[in-house]
Amino acid sequence: MRRMNTSIYKEALEKEKALLETELSGLGKRDPGNPSDWIPVKPEGDEFGADRNDNADIIEDMGDNSAALNELEGRLQLVEKALDKIEDGTYGVCEACGEEIEADRLKANPAATTCKVHMQ
Ligand SMILES: [Zn+2]
Repeated sequence: MRRMNTSIYKEALEKEKALLETELSGLGKRDPGNPSDWIPVKPEGDEFGADRNDNADIIEDMGDNSAALNELEGRLQLVEKALDKIEDGTYGVCEACGEEIEADRLKANPAATTCKVHMQ
């Protein structure tokens, strides 16, 4: 199989990874017991107090953070998986059929793991 030039995808993926980690660190922190997992933290300056309504607002914010965190975490895992594949030399191969993923698909989404036929 022809070895593709992965350097442009690697650059795009590393940029996206840095961005995702910045966004994640604004919403949560890495789980010390499992560094690939992120846990939500209370928003800066919000402390639980005597006011039940204030506390409910904080919990609601944390719930929003948690949903955003899960989404960012999922995306970060895809990006990291793609970077691993570049290192392994298996990048750009469809996980469903083993064919090369189209270059325009990878340009649009460098973390893609399937070709256009097998994308969901
Ligand atoms: Zn395929």
